[in-house]
Amino acid sequence: MDGGRQLLRPLDDNTRETDMLGDTAIEGRAYKRIATEEAFCPPELLERYRRLLADNAVDDIGFNGMWGFYANSSSDRCQFIRDHLTDVGDVRLSHMDEAGIDFAVLALTSPGVQVMTTADGTAFATYANDWLADAIARNPDRFDGLAACAPQDPVAAAKEIERGVTKLGLKGVIVNSHIQHEYLDDQKFWAVFEAAEALDVPIYLHPNSPSDGLIKPMLGRGLDGAIWGFSVETGLHVLRIIVAGVFDRFPKLQLVLGHVGESLPFTLYRLDYMHRASAASGRYEGMPALKRSISDYLRDNVHYTNSGVAWDPPIRFLQETMGVDRVMYAMDYPYQYSVEEVARLDAMTIEPAAKKAFFEDNARKLFKLAI
Ligand code: MN
Repeated sequence: MDGGRQLLRPLDDNTRETDMLGDTAIEGRAYKRIATEEAFCPPELLERYRRLLADNAVDDIGFNGMWGFYANSSSDRCQFIRDHLTDVGDVRLSHMDEAGIDFAVLALTSPGVQVMTTADGTAFATYANDWLADAIARNPDRFDGLAACAPQDPVAAAKEIERGVTKLGLKGVIVNSHIQHEYLDDQKFWAVFEAAEALDVPIYLHPNSPSDGLIKPMLGRGLDGAIWGFSVETGLHVLRIIVAGVFDRFPKLQLVLGHVGESLPFTLYRLDYMHRASAASGRYEGMPALKRSISDYLRDNVHYTNSGVAWDPPIRFLQETMGVDRVMYAMDYPYQYSVEEVARLDAMTIEPAAKKAFFEDNARKLFKLAI
C-alpha cells in the first residue's frame, strides 16, 4: 500500500483494531517499543488550571482556549484525556500492553507550569517532579520521565533541573514552548540550557498553543492546536534558538522535537540559503553570523520523534536528512491513543536496523535508559 493512499484512510480516535497488530508481546519481537512523548499530570494540575480559568488569571489566548475546552468539556475526547493524563497506573499500563508499548518516557502535559506566576510555577514544578518520580518508582521497568521546570525564574529552573536529574533520576527536561509569550533564545533564559548541557540531558521542546502574537489568524478556522498551530509555534521557537547562537554557546546541548520535527526538515535547503544571505546582509540585528549552517545545528543538536504522525514517508525523510540515529518513536498518549498506529509503524518500509533504532536504540541512548 502506498503511503499517500494509506494516509487517506481515516483513523478514528482511540482505534482498537487489535487484529491489525503484528505482535504486541515482547517475546519474539525484534525490538522493544519505547514511547518518548507521553503526557501526564497530577490531578492537582487540572484543578489549578480550572481555578486559573475561572479567575481569568492567565493572559494567554491559547491557554484559555485550549484548557477552557480540555479542562471542562464533557465530550468523550476531553473526558478520555483528563482521565488518562492523571493515571500513571493500571489503566495506562493496560493501554501500553494493548498497543505493545514496552516503556514510556513521561512528561508534564503542556503548558505545564509555564502559565503560572513565577513563584507558583517554581513550586509546582517541584511537586510535579516528585509526583512523577513516585510514579516511576512504582513501575521502574515501564516508566521514566523528564523534569519539569519554570523558566519564568531561570536560575530556580536550572536548580530544579539539577535536582530532577541528580536526585530524582529523571532523564531530561520538558519545556512546553513559549514562556508567557517569550522564547528561550532570550539570554535571560540561558541558565536552563547551561544546566541541561552540564548534566548531559536533552530538553524536549514540546508544543504549546501559539503565543498571542501568532495565534489570532489561526483561531477562526480552528488551526491553532495540534492540527497546525503547535508546529508553527514550536518550529519558530527552535529556529529562534538556533539563529540566536545558542548552539555556538552550548555546542553539546541536545533538543528533542516531536511531530517529525515540526515540519522543519522539509525546509532545510531554504533555511540554509536564506539564513546565509540574510546574516551576511546585516539586515537584522538579532541575526548574528553563526559558526555553522542552520541544518548543521538541526542535524547535530536536535533529536526527533514521530509523535502523532504514523506515516512512513516523513519518517523516512527525517531519517535520510537527520540521520537514522536521531529519529525516535512516540505515541503522544493520551492525546493520540491509537493501537492501529503501532502496527502501521511496524510495517514501515525501512531496514530492520533502522526500525530498531527508531523504536528502541535511539531513545535508550539519548535518555540513558536503564532498560
Ligand atoms: Mn505531545
